[in-house]
Amino acid sequence: MQAVDNFYDLIKHLNHKIRVVGYGVTEDTADGVAIECEDCKEVLFNFDKPFYNEDGVCESCGGDVYIAHPVSNGNMYCDNAMCEHSNF
Ligand SMILES: [Zn+2]
Ligand SMILES: [Zn+2]
Repeated sequence: MQAVDNFYDLIKHLNHKIRVVGYGVTEDTADGVAIECEDCKEVLFNFDKPFYNEDGVCESCGGDVYIAHPVSNGNMYCDNAMCEHSNF
């Protein structure tokens, strides 16, 4: 759950103790990562690890990843039609 998406949500945490927390952490990555407020015990922002790496390469098949037209949904898909992450 993401608690913060505007100024008023975030200003409540002014001067609170904030830290970055990983979920399902392994040696060099994690299943997800969040910014939490320790004072409120609340998740401010979080991201699940996507199926592609930082360079936009699919981690299942090594294919390129593209973003669907924002009018459809703006999701990311793998360009390899055989891949589980494709949209073909
Ligand atoms: Zn807080
Ligand atoms: Zn793929």
